[in-house]
Amino acid sequence: MHKRIKRILLKLSGEALSGTRGNGFDPDAVSLMAEGVKDACDIGAQVGVVIGGGNIFRGADASSFVSDRVSADTMGMLATIINALALKEALSKTGVEARVLTAIEMPKVAQTMTKTLALEHLNAGRVVIFGGGTGNPFFTTDTNAALRALEIEADLLIKATKVDGIYDKDPVKHSDANFLKDIDYDEALSKNLGVMDATAIALCRENDLPIRVINIRVPGNIARVIRGEAIGSVVRRRN
Ligand code: UDP
Repeated sequence: MHKRIKRILLKLSGEALSGTRGNGFDPDAVSLMAEGVKDACDIGAQVGVVIGGGNIFRGADASSFVSDRVSADTMGMLATIINALALKEALSKTGVEARVLTAIEMPKVAQTMTKTLALEHLNAGRVVIFGGGTGNPFFTTDTNAALRALEIEADLLIKATKVDGIYDKDPVKHSDANFLKDIDYDEALSKNLGVMDATAIALCRENDLPIRVINIRVPGNIARVIRGEAIGSVVRRRN
């Protein structure tokens, strides 16, 4: 018997907005992400989204010209806010109302993230896009996704990727990569499978929050997960 999911936290990488370009925005890719979120709303799910900033800037990649990691990460967090605004606009085009809540206060741009506000919007049927990461350097948006999922008491964290789920090695580079359908948090951590960073997985493990990893480029996949279909791979407690 499938368990229907009521509230999700969707983690999109910044790359999801750049399509095959690798950086910046690809309008078709942005629309595809918005349509996926819309499908989820149309079947009655409450949707929180954490979006990365990798299509614009990643703190760890900037050491050649920004020597201070805190500054570099701040630039990365600001990049996630640009992406959050882009997704909000794309959602609005599809008729879905969304709000950006940010961990870094900037009242002229977006509301400041609080749990109460996030739940108010979700319960009113609005998509909540969490921008600005955790608001702290040395973290990633994967960790922010785990954090926000726990704060909004999501039933499931969905990690969007460009492959069909979790493999024991990169399936794009290795034709003999094995697909892993259902694994424990400890296996994801000990085998360093690259599902999410270790801090994010540890947070999910401590709070028993399952992570479903799906191919975001297949239209309809988010809705399938919400209907309870066991597509992609899952990381959860297995004993
Ligand atoms: N970042 C940060 N703290 C956070 C979240 C993100 O400092 O809580 C910065 C960090 O520099 C990171 C960048 O924002 O590289 C963009 O986030 P991420 O690399 O996770 O984006 P993605 O790879 O998902 O596109």
